[in-house]
Amino acid sequence: MRAVVEERKKKRDLDARPLPKPDHTRIMTVANQKGGVGKTTTTVNVAAALALAGLRVLVVDLDPQGNASTALGIPHHAEITSIYDVLVDGTPLEEIVQPCPDIDGLLCAPATIDLAGSEIELVSLVARETRLRKAITAYLENTPERIDYVLIDCPPSLGLLTVNAFVAAEEVFIPIQCEYYALEGLSQLLKNIELIRTHLNPELHVSTILLTMYDARTRLSAQVADEVRGHFPTQTLRGTVPRSVRVSEAPSHGQTVITYDPMSTGALAYREAAAELADRGATAQPDPEEKNPDE
Ligand code: ADP
Ligand code: MG
Repeated sequence: MRAVVEERKKKRDLDARPLPKPDHTRIMTVANQKGGVGKTTTTVNVAAALALAGLRVLVVDLDPQGNASTALGIPHHAEITSIYDVLVDGTPLEEIVQPCPDIDGLLCAPATIDLAGSEIELVSLVARETRLRKAITAYLENTPERIDYVLIDCPPSLGLLTVNAFVAAEEVFIPIQCEYYALEGLSQLLKNIELIRTHLNPELHVSTILLTMYDARTRLSAQVADEVRGHFPTQTLRGTVPRSVRVSEAPSHGQTVITYDPMSTGALAYREAAAELADRGATAQPDPEEKNPDE
């Protein structure tokens, strides 16, 4: 009972709290070379939470599975013009971006299964590593309303699709599953990020880490969390996302957990994570267009 009351209060607090706009469009690549660690779930739910708080958010689905497109209710069958056409044929991003039906201010560049072949097709193309960056830059310049966040959902590999995502972004957002071997492969990921910094994108850095599928009953989750916080004290968000059935059910309804079950622990945890992420990226200087809350 007490938990329910606490959750209601948490939701009321979140509802009452507008999130600050960043001073420039934050482009974040959600990456972890392990599969099934919560990259897609984190991308769509953080994006939904930011959009519901009044920000404009573009999700770029860069995984041939198209799970992010599915979770946002965006059609992505084989005939749809998609991020594949953007990367391989140079189709402008604005031609493929679709609005999410349930959430105002949330947009998605869908992925279709064609994308699976693009890893190979890209190899022989000019400027193969910078194609996504060019497409996003042109889109941000042409779009009439400013986009506050671009979140790129990566496949679980370090091929050319992920390289394109790293070149396009300024920030890397790593979800870490609180399970055995959580940190395995992380040093490889960090090495790759370092290589991209040196050769292709000096701006790139790991700005954010989110602990997901946290099980408060196990010591293992607490141990993994401690270890991650020890390595990445400033990057790791304070809030964690619990393992919750509602989170895993939502995509089969073409929804994020934030709209599917707004009162669930998963929805609240993702909204808190999004709020923390937005607060951290807020400008030190107040935006002159925003009203000063003290006035
Ligand atoms: P990735 O994109 O890294 O492969 P996903 O986001 O697709 O990982 O998550 C892998 C699986 O775990 C999916 O079935 C998803 O629904 C489930 N899942 C993710 N986060 C949670 C959570 N907090 N609680 C329960 N299930 C989750
Ligand atoms: Mg995924």
